[in-house]
Amino acid sequence: MPDCQRCGGCCAWSETWPVLMGPRDGEGIPDDLIDFDNERMQSHGHRCAALDGVIGTRVGCDVYDKRPLVCREFQSGSDDCLMVRRELGLERA
Ligand code: SF4
Ligand code: SF4
Repeated sequence: MPDCQRCGGCCAWSETWPVLMGPRDGEGIPDDLIDFDNERMQSHGHRCAALDGVIGTRVGCDVYDKRPLVCREFQSGSDDCLMVRRELGLERA
């Protein structure tokens, strides 16, 4: 199973991915990390603003306990996970 703490690929895949599913999703996340206009996490390029560390080496989520539902449901080792890792060249991370 891929190690999310070394990877971080899905958190840097697309700015449109970490969406908020309703007003209570992501409750408690600081306002400056949320893109309220588009109802998703704020990003820097494709990278979620809450992602800390170096992709493919060591990463962490600054709002892990409050992260959106889509982040909670994304499964390490799933087809989508493996596709992201392949596309970003993180297969060995
Ligand atoms: S792409 Fe997969 S292994 Fe990488 S952080 Fe996301 S779920 Fe974890
Ligand atoms: S909120 Fe956390 S888990 Fe979700 S995309 Fe951002 S860094 Fe990744």
